[in-house]
Amino acid sequence: MLLAFGWWSVLLLRKNEEAHVANVNELAYRMAVERRIEAPADFRETQRYRDLTSQFERQQAMIIGEAVFLVLSLAGGIYLLFRSLRQEISAAQQQRNFLLSITHELKSPLAGIRLVLETFQKRKELKPEIQQKLSTNALAETDRLTALVNDLLLSAKLENVYQINEEEVDLGSLIQDAADQVAMKYKTANIHVDIETDLRPVVGDRLGLTSVAVNLLENAAKYSQPNPVIHTSLQRGGARELIWEVSDNGIGIPDREKRRIWTKFYRVGSEDTRKTKGTGLGLYIVKRLVERHGGTLEVMDNEPKGTKFMIYLPTKGAD
Ligand code: ADP
Repeated sequence: MLLAFGWWSVLLLRKNEEAHVANVNELAYRMAVERRIEAPADFRETQRYRDLTSQFERQQAMIIGEAVFLVLSLAGGIYLLFRSLRQEISAAQQQRNFLLSITHELKSPLAGIRLVLETFQKRKELKPEIQQKLSTNALAETDRLTALVNDLLLSAKLENVYQINEEEVDLGSLIQDAADQVAMKYKTANIHVDIETDLRPVVGDRLGLTSVAVNLLENAAKYSQPNPVIHTSLQRGGARELIWEVSDNGIGIPDREKRRIWTKFYRVGSEDTRKTKGTGLGLYIVKRLVERHGGTLEVMDNEPKGTKFMIYLPTKGAD
């Protein structure tokens, strides 16, 4: 279509030029016949010729202008169409990813709990230590289900109604608790916590900030198998700011994915990611919560390998 427009414009310019030349010739001969000029060539000296020429130039400019406008609008339209198509495809893809992972994430703990209950039902004479082991497994599975349902509810709330529950939070001890919780779950993870002393409290939602800490630390452990080495630190930034860092030695996040990982249900499409369990909700929740607390966050490569998340949060009062 763009070519056709181009070609039509060239054709129109040529026809306009031909019409102009024909007009000039006809008028020149007519004026010569009427003896208003000596010879047709003298017509070029007349005011009439200058008027015709400037009218011709205006028409040429108009044709070029219209052609450029049409081509630009068409190109713009095609670009917008492709962009919305791409967004539709990626939304459908995310929805599919979400359904697949959520089904898996819901089914496997349910299957685990069912198995435990069936074992209890069929085998009345279980040894106490086996009973203990089975019920611990079942409890771990219910924890997994609860965490999933909480993430789903939290992400739905963050879409619109979420109000942060304002209270003074000692972020350092909150990070320490989250690290202990993640270390219990990921036994091979080596988590180093480094909290600067005498930091000002953050005014925010304790549950929300715990969710940020647990999500970041769990991701660090999940994507750094088999031997995660995780560092998390909290220190004073500017006068009213805390800098919170979470880094790992894992698979890292390719540069082209760094922008996308904050999107709801988005999971990096690599083989390594597919091997781990997840819904793609964690970082969406993290970003939304940090922003609700007036903070910002960024992701970068860790040295020599892995990923580093940096969070900047405002504190209460000035130093
Ligand atoms: P998921 O449930 O898949 O972990 P998240 O929203 O927490 O969802 O993370 C989105 C994606 O970002 C993950 O699927 C993973 O590919 C990538 N990712 C997040 N954290 C890390 C990390 N610490 N190291 C490597 N990749 C990560």
